[in-house]
Amino acid sequence: MSVLVFVELDEGALKKSSLEAVYYGSQVAEQLGTTTSALVLGEAAPDELAKAGRFGAGKVLHAADARLNDGNPMAYAGVVAEAAGREGAKVIVLAKSSLGDAMAARLAGKLKAGLAANVTDLPDLSNGFRVKRSIFTGKAFAFTELTAETKILAIRKNTITPEETEADAPVESFQPTLNDADFAVRVTGTEKATGEVLLPEADIVVSGGRGMKGPENWAMLENLAHALHAATACSKPVSDLDWRPHHEHVGQTGIKISPNLYIACGISGAIQHLAGVNSSKVIVVINKDPEAPFFKSADYGIVGDLFDVLPRLTKAVEGK
Ligand SMILES: Cc1cc2nc3c(=O)[nH]c(=O)nc-3n(C[C@H](O)[C@H](O)[C@H](O)COP(=O)(O)OP(=O)(O)OC[C@H]3O[C@@H](n4cnc5c(N)ncnc54)[C@H](O)[C@@H]3O)c2cc1C
Repeated sequence: MSVLVFVELDEGALKKSSLEAVYYGSQVAEQLGTTTSALVLGEAAPDELAKAGRFGAGKVLHAADARLNDGNPMAYAGVVAEAAGREGAKVIVLAKSSLGDAMAARLAGKLKAGLAANVTDLPDLSNGFRVKRSIFTGKAFAFTELTAETKILAIRKNTITPEETEADAPVESFQPTLNDADFAVRVTGTEKATGEVLLPEADIVVSGGRGMKGPENWAMLENLAHALHAATACSKPVSDLDWRPHHEHVGQTGIKISPNLYIACGISGAIQHLAGVNSSKVIVVINKDPEAPFFKSADYGIVGDLFDVLPRLTKAVEGK
């Protein structure tokens, strides 16, 4: 029994969340006394493939067919199922993401596997196969036992701190059986978010709400984000007002993120906003109203006018 890790690419580069999944997979393999194979789908440069080895994979399987470049969950589920069969993998690990969700559900159906999503810790193997999962948008944990022979674990982003080594894993070409029917839905174009750092993968996020007063003030927030190498985000009303693009909107109806640091500027902390950000490791709230609900969920709070606080914070980060 081996562990197979499904690795996602972003323009040919291994995603950070997938490297976390590879590391997690290697730790599970160690628990089970077996090996880890990382499966990379689509075109990727050799130095990118090598990263999977440095994060714990014993072997890298590369299905380089260009038709797999587009993140097609139907085709991916077939390829991952085939790889799992050839490798004898009974545990399949992936990073939780929108593509991962769509792929994993199909894969579970194909393999009649048990699927646990939003996993935050290594499995407890002392009595069966139990995993800890984050539920209710990060407000609680569930302990779930997987009893199916094949188990699929989708790991919550940013919960595993991977260790990089000098290890050098062999890369094997993997030739899957691809059916035309799997490509019945094709991506014909992609419009990418333009931020310097992509929001779903970001370690640090600087976010603005209606307290920013208008789009003309965003340079101030972007300066702090730039200094911290952070992504920018916003509350729903901000994107509804067209102050910021919709792909930056976080919350119940927007993107759900779990960065290491979330800095909320002029955001009240409505429950629908918190639903998207409360699994962040550290939350810093800047709000001029000491009664703002967000302070209850904050690790650090600054009661003050953001137009005063943000430039000072940026200067401090830049060391000026
Ligand atoms: C079904 C549903 C789904 C929703 N989904 C989402 C969602 O996904 N994401 C989301 O964000 N919202 C969502 N909402 C909306 C949510 O309920 C809130 O209305 C919204 O989050 C409030 O946005 P805000 O905090 O930016 O604005 P406000 O509530 O107007 O808060 C602005 C804050 O800025 C502070 N402020 C003002 N000026 C300054 C200053 N100079 N310096 C410092 N602080 C200042 C104020 O004290 C205030 O706390 C949803 C609502 C519903 C009903």
